[in-house]
Amino acid sequence: DTGKAALVLDTATDERFNHASVGYDVGSLVAVPLVASGQVVGVLSASAGEARCFSELHRDLAQLLANCTVPAIESARLAHLAITDDLTRAYNVRYLGNRLSEAVSRARRYGDGFALLMMDLDHFKRVNDRHGHPVGDEVLRGFADRVRAEVRVPDVLIRRGGEEFLLLMPSTSMPEASAVAERIRAAVSAEPIPTAAGDVTITVSIGVATWQADEDGGATESRADTALYRAKETGRDRVVSERDLDERPPGS
Ligand code: GH3
Ligand code: MG
Ligand code: MG
Repeated sequence: DTGKAALVLDTATDERFNHASVGYDVGSLVAVPLVASGQVVGVLSASAGEARCFSELHRDLAQLLANCTVPAIESARLAHLAITDDLTRAYNVRYLGNRLSEAVSRARRYGDGFALLMMDLDHFKRVNDRHGHPVGDEVLRGFADRVRAEVRVPDVLIRRGGEEFLLLMPSTSMPEASAVAERIRAAVSAEPIPTAAGDVTITVSIGVATWQADEDGGATESRADTALYRAKETGRDRVVSERDLDERPPGS
């Protein structure tokens, strides 16, 4: 709150101490701010069960330690920022290339493939046209949250651009990936996304592909793209897997 180091000699008498239980006894403590670019980004604290265990020297030492950790924390934060999308907190395309080749190396080494789900919101331009860009942004955020609620921890959500997202699913077979894609599709259309302009109903089209031995990630991605394109062609709000690609769409 104050951005200043605190030395609490006796928590029983110091008004700054919040007596909410922390699960262990705190008789005295030092707490120092972690300051990066003029902003408090965290607190380093040390406590003892007894009162009067710390002096001003300990406080200054803690501040010195805190100052040493800030550059590492800050560079990790910036590195994370560089690979994530501000709006949806999904990873961005910068991350995609690396992650995809890593998935291919893993798949080659361990023989467990991976699946890609290519997702594109249907008629999203209409959402912007009808409600404005800021509401469109809210919908994109809501969509990303909904996808994250349906997937497992190792699955990686990437915003490839605009209203197009990719889900990389390590160690996942075609039947599993198709089931997840269908679950996402259903979850998106089942309930509208709440926004400042009221509820907005959207649907998503999804293309699914799995890695085939000896191909690079780009080839898998491109098959998922083709499947997505087919999903759009055949009516949207649907999942098409690469297995369906041999069958011609009706009317073609
Ligand atoms: P389709 O079903 O064929 O995918 O139709 P669509 O309208 O979704 O496709 P189209 O590619 O024509 O339009 C995509 C729209 O997404 C157009 C663009 O304004 C909007 N869009 C892209 N990025 C953002 C964003 O960051 N925020 C908002 N609000 N809109 C975005
Ligand atoms: Mg679209
Ligand atoms: Mg698109």
